Amino acid sequence: MQPDHDTILAPATATGGALAVIRISGDDAFAVCDRVFRGRSPLAEAQGYTVHYGRIVDGDRTIDDVLATVFRAPHSYTGENSVELSCHGSAYIVSEILRLLFAAGGRMATPGEFTLRAYFAGKLDLSQAEAVADLIASSSRAAHALASNQMRGGYSAALDSLRDRLLHLTSLLELELDFSEEDVEFADRQELQRIMQDIDQHLNQLINTFALGNALKEGIPVAIVGAPNAGKSTLLNRLLNEERAIVSEIAGTTRDVIEESVCIEGIRFRFIDTAGIRTTDDRLERMGIERTLQRIARARIVIRLLDMAHFTGSVPAPEFELPERCSLLTVVNKIDLQPDISLPQGVIGLSARDGAGLDTLRQALLQSTGAEELDQNDIVVSNSRHFEALSIARSALQRALNGLHEGLPADLLSEEIRQVIRHIGEITGRGVILSDEILGTIFSKFCIGK
Ligand code: GDP
Repeated sequence: MQPDHDTILAPATATGGALAVIRISGDDAFAVCDRVFRGRSPLAEAQGYTVHYGRIVDGDRTIDDVLATVFRAPHSYTGENSVELSCHGSAYIVSEILRLLFAAGGRMATPGEFTLRAYFAGKLDLSQAEAVADLIASSSRAAHALASNQMRGGYSAALDSLRDRLLHLTSLLELELDFSEEDVEFADRQELQRIMQDIDQHLNQLINTFALGNALKEGIPVAIVGAPNAGKSTLLNRLLNEERAIVSEIAGTTRDVIEESVCIEGIRFRFIDTAGIRTTDDRLERMGIERTLQRIARARIVIRLLDMAHFTGSVPAPEFELPERCSLLTVVNKIDLQPDISLPQGVIGLSARDGAGLDTLRQALLQSTGAEELDQNDIVVSNSRHFEALSIARSALQRALNGLHEGLPADLLSEEIRQVIRHIGEITGRGVILSDEILGTIFSKFCIGK
């Protein structure tokens, strides 16, 4: 896949705002705009990073007063000549301006085409391009931080450094081939093993961050389980109501499913299968065991809600098995019934009805994510494509390590290491040629205009 040099255009803002932005990019971006833009002077004569007031005209008719921001190649997002037209945010005005720009020689951009061009122009690598999409979709501080770090290239730099070290190994091994008659070893096998093990550890660390990274990006799945009448839906309503400002924003995002989730101190928590909690059916279900097990299987945190009305002073053994990666919070609800009771250690007392203990529960939720242990500069993998590439790279590295152990000849060893390099390279797109299919999948997830 190589981009053409058409002049592409697309609205870059959603309808309904006071202003709208239309992006135009390509060799002929200025000429295309100048056919419909009337300012003090043509945009083709303008310097980069300047803004120009003017009108968009259709013959004698003025469509709108606009501001045109000019970017000159290579100093633009795409690396090409680009213009961003700010007009009034009417869907009619935007469609009229688009129509005129099409007639002037532009064509509609496909989803992600601006970013695809930026990638081919070397403005950003593939993982940075993916971070742009994540940034646009981010709906919590944590998701924003992950996308922002990745977009700024910290992750790419870490991968490049692994790649460089591996390339160094292959060059040493390949040097041996040139001197194969003389039976020399440029790459001390013990040293080789040490470096490979170190890289293996780095890969493993990155792989291990994925579960948390992905959960932070998508929202941490939480299951609330407990007997009928324990107060599950009261608790859920309370959490949702207290964070209403944030919850209501979710409806406006482009997610397919509007789910119940809240942001607590910048981290999004998603409540699993809350429809079941909220309907009376659940209460009528005899034990709801099946549903409970399904909830638990998908959760990272389980809130086990016990009812004070039936609480005997000790916590009964759970009626379910907790998955390995899952944290359990045991909560006794309705403490308002017996405010003086002292609960076993580690058990949170709550009154979902009055709100007592809710802050403690929130802090416990935050702690259970494991996100607090993350350093701001820690590299966290949040993209499943990257996770897969890293996992495959690590298996290849394991094979290389085994080969080393078994005294594999330098050329075969080097080939195994090259596999590792290739899979790491797939993440950033550096040093590998990626299939159109991979690029197509990545960029088709973008919105139009990005
Ligand atoms: P669910 O079946 O687990 O979803 O339970 P509900 O949330 O529907 O609550 C069952 C009953 O317990 C309702 O009558 C609630 O008003 C009551 N309830 C819930 N939380 C509390 C609480 O903290 N204190 C008291 N006293 N009652 C509560």
